[in-house]
Parts: sequence; structure tokens; C-alpha cells
Amino acid sequence: MAAVASFEENVAAAGRYLARFSAAPALHLIGGEAAASASGETFANASPIDGMHLGDVAAGGSDDIAAAAGAARASFAEWSGTPGGERKRLLHAVADAIEARADEIAVVESVDTGQAIRFMSSAALRGAENFRFFADQAPAASDGLALPSADHLNYTSRRAIGPVGVITPWNTPFMLSTWKIAPALAAGCTVVHKPAEWSPLTACLLAEIALEAGLPPGVLNVVHGTGEAAGRALTEHPDIAAVAFVGESATGSAIQAQAAPTLKRLHFELGGKNPVIVFDDAHIDRALDAVVFMIYSLNGERCTSSSRLLVQRSIHDDFTERLADKLRNIRVGHPLDPATVIGPLIHPRHCDKVRSYIQLASTEGATVVEGTPWAGAPPGGNFVAPVLFTGATNDMRIAQEEIFGPALTAIAFDDEDHAVALANDTDYGLAAYVWTSDVGRAHRVAGAVDAGMVWVNSQNVRHLPTPFGGTKRSGIGRDGGDWSFDFYMETKNVAVAHGDHPIPKLGG
Ligand code: NAD
Repeated sequence: MAAVASFEENVAAAGRYLARFSAAPALHLIGGEAAASASGETFANASPIDGMHLGDVAAGGSDDIAAAAGAARASFAEWSGTPGGERKRLLHAVADAIEARADEIAVVESVDTGQAIRFMSSAALRGAENFRFFADQAPAASDGLALPSADHLNYTSRRAIGPVGVITPWNTPFMLSTWKIAPALAAGCTVVHKPAEWSPLTACLLAEIALEAGLPPGVLNVVHGTGEAAGRALTEHPDIAAVAFVGESATGSAIQAQAAPTLKRLHFELGGKNPVIVFDDAHIDRALDAVVFMIYSLNGERCTSSSRLLVQRSIHDDFTERLADKLRNIRVGHPLDPATVIGPLIHPRHCDKVRSYIQLASTEGATVVEGTPWAGAPPGGNFVAPVLFTGATNDMRIAQEEIFGPALTAIAFDDEDHAVALANDTDYGLAAYVWTSDVGRAHRVAGAVDAGMVWVNSQNVRHLPTPFGGTKRSGIGRDGGDWSFDFYMETKNVAVAHGDHPIPKLGG
């Protein structure tokens, strides 16, 4: 596995796996065929490590989306009519093929996104797990309920909604794409995937893997390109019945407007400013480890990162001092080095944004504790040392706005009511984390926090049958378990009279 390979082995593997992307542009996959853009245009894909040119990528527009939506429409009847057991078999074959190429996926993802290899190797396997989980649900996905009434037998069933669009962000693209695409395929939908333009490469691998594993041509299509061109065209296309989107809240608003004329069903997983609430009766060592892990793993580029630390005043100074000690030991470095925790951020623009918040923190009156930068960082790389902001208040922008980097804002609270008030004083409501040894308090706070997901005395451990999603500006709808099928399928009710129920007689 790549995770235990040495830095040198990973670098050599990256050379092998990335050669194809520098030799020829990464293309769309439409109807089972690799395709250049109708316009012939491409865009450049740069490494976050040193700005090096990784290769060109086909820049899709409305013509390419139309071709992909056409392919998805053409293959829909056959795929949605394929027995669930056969879809299950094919999706397990995709999972097998992902596992067989997990090293390659991990290395390519790590170089393309800047995420440390220690996290990316398991991201590839999580992708396979997503396929297996939803594959197993495929045979029963269309089952419904019997709802008898006095005169009728009502029964429900579900069928795939149609071709769907999946639009994904750049932070952990492979895992996130599989989280959306696997249930769509299991439900019987065909898919047009528009990956993020800042990390397009593993979407090529997934499409290729799926085709080689036996998925019929046209069932999974990929169109690269910017959000404004390819993304917009996908959300506006009349053949696309629904759009599953993961990304920023502001983009979600734009997509809602773009999709309105064609009345698409929408599912949004958006941003977060998630609180982790640490009470003074918590298991402090475990809480500390979880706080550090949930903001400084995955470069802090994680929707569920615990980016607001709400810590009880009685333990605030001790807790933040211990946190600062750990922070200084967190290794920033080359993402292919297995010792690295924080790699380069995705893009110079995003790096500037994160740095601007570090400056803002001082202007707003917080104290900035900086981690240890990487002395060997190549020029042109997007490296930022992890930071902790202490002495912050919840009205500061560093406490309200999603930074999406390795930056943690610490705020002191006095008691349970104060903690809940601070936790809820945000536009977001994706996740929350609560640390306490008081069982009653754990349940009270979990109930009172306005978030789609609450972890108690736990870091973010996912269980695929559970619902995933947020409230407020963090999203609309839920994924996971049967919630995913509810989104990708239409429910039908059939009412059959079994007696002579009254029928009003009109007209004689
Ligand atoms: P983004 O919104 O900028 O881009 C996401 C995708 O949307 C990209 O593929 C982009 O090309 C596309 N896009 C942009 N404008 C579009 C438009 N007008 N129409 C259609 N598509 C368009 O987000 P990002 O910067 O790539 O990702 C970071 C964000 O994603 C953060 O806010 C993060 O919290 C969020 N995120 C949320 C979850 C979750 O599950 N809630 C998971 C991961 C990331």
C-alpha cells in the first residue's frame, strides 16, 4: 500500500502514474469514449507542491455537456431496467477494480490535491467501500411499502429519477465522487460527473475503472471544465433530472437559480464552521487528540472539520497551551512523504485566502499561534503552517467564515447554555462535536445544537447507513443509507380498490 511506501517509492510511483497526464490532455468520457472538447480547448492543471505543470485537461462547455447528457439519456432505459442483482454485481466489480488500483489513486490524488498520502491511501479504499455499500442495497432499492386503507390497497415503489448530474469539489475528490456516484448508479440512474477543475485527475481514473469493470458505456460520463462553463451547462440541461452538488454555499445558491427553469431536484452538501465543544469534565486527552485531528488532518480542507473550538473557561488556558504544543509538532511537508500531516493547499488563490485570514486574526484582536513551517518548501508551492487563533470571540470573521484550511479559532465559554448559544450563532449547521463525561449533558447539548450531525466523545467516524448532511447554509437533503435512494429515485403510489367504495354520481 502507498501509505507504508517510502517517500522515494511514492515519488517514483507518482512519476509512473502521472506520465500519461503530462503526455496527453486528460479527456472527457462520453458514451464510453474518451473525447476532447468540441471547442478543442484545454486548461492547464498545476501541482500544488511546486506549481509544476501536471498536464492539460479538456475544457468542457455546453456542447460537451449536451453530448454527455445525451449519452446518459440514451443509456438510462437499459441501465434502470437492469435487474438490481446485476447492478450489484457490476458495482462490486467497480469496487474490486478501485481496490486493485488503490495505490495509483492515492498517489495521483495526493499530487493533484496536495493532501498527505497518509490520508489519501484510505480515501481510495473508502471509495471502494462506498461502491460496495450501495451495491448491496441495489436489489431492494425499488421496494416500497404496503399502506392498506378501508377500500384500497396502496403500495409504493421507487424507480430511478433519470440521468443525474454530480458536481464535486477539489478537497477529497475521489472519495466524495464515489459517495455521490455509487448510490446514483445503484439506484439505476445514469450519471454526468463534473469534477472540480483544480483536481480533475482521479475522476479520469474512476471513469476508466468503471468502464473496464464492465459498466455499460454512457452509464457514467465525465465532463471536465470550469463551474461557470461545464457546471452551469449541466445544471441547466433539460435531460438532467437532478443534481447532487458538493461545494461552497454561494455556489449552491447559484445552482439553485440555474436549475430553477428546468425544475431539477437538488441535493446540496455545502460549507461548515463546525463547533467542537469541550466541557471541563471531558476526557481531556482524547478530546485534545480529536480536536487536533479534526482540524489539521486533510489540510483543514474538510467540510466537517472542527474549525471552531468552544472550550470551557476553567480549562481554556491549559487546553489551548497543550494544543499549541501539539501544533508545533505537526509536520508540514511534501504530500508524498508518509511523515507529512499537512501538505500544500490546493491552489495559490486558496492559499492567499487562508493567509488573509491569518492576517485578519491579528487585526480582529485574536492571538495567532503558528505551527512550524516547512523549511524545504519549494518555491511555487502552496504551503501554510497550521495556526491556532486564541482569545477570539464568536462575532469575529475568523469565527464566522469558513476558512477551509489548517486554522482553528478557539473561544472560551462559561456554561452549557453559553456553549450552545455560541455553537448555534453561525450561518452554518453541518456538524458539531461534544466532549463531556456527563451523559445527560451530552444528550441535552446534542439535541440543542442546530446541526445535521453531532458526534459525542468522538471524532468524525462515519457509518454509511447513517444520514449525512447539514442545516442552514450547510446544505439541503441527506445522503447515506436509504436517504441517498430517496434522492436518486421517484416514489410512486398505486391505489387499488378492493371493494365498492362510494363514487359520486354526476350527470345523472
Ligand atoms: P466550489 O463551490 O467552488 O466548487 C465545487 C464545484 O462546483 C466545482 O466542480 C466547480 O467547478 C463547480 N461550480 C462552481 N460554480 C458553478 C456553477 N455556477 N454552476 C455549477 N457548478 C459550479 O467549491 P470548492 O471550492 O471546490 O470546494 C470547497 C467547498 O466545498 C467548501 O465550502 C466545503 O465546505 C465544501 N464541501 C462540502 C462538503 C459537504 O459534504 N458538506 C464536502 C466537501 C466540501
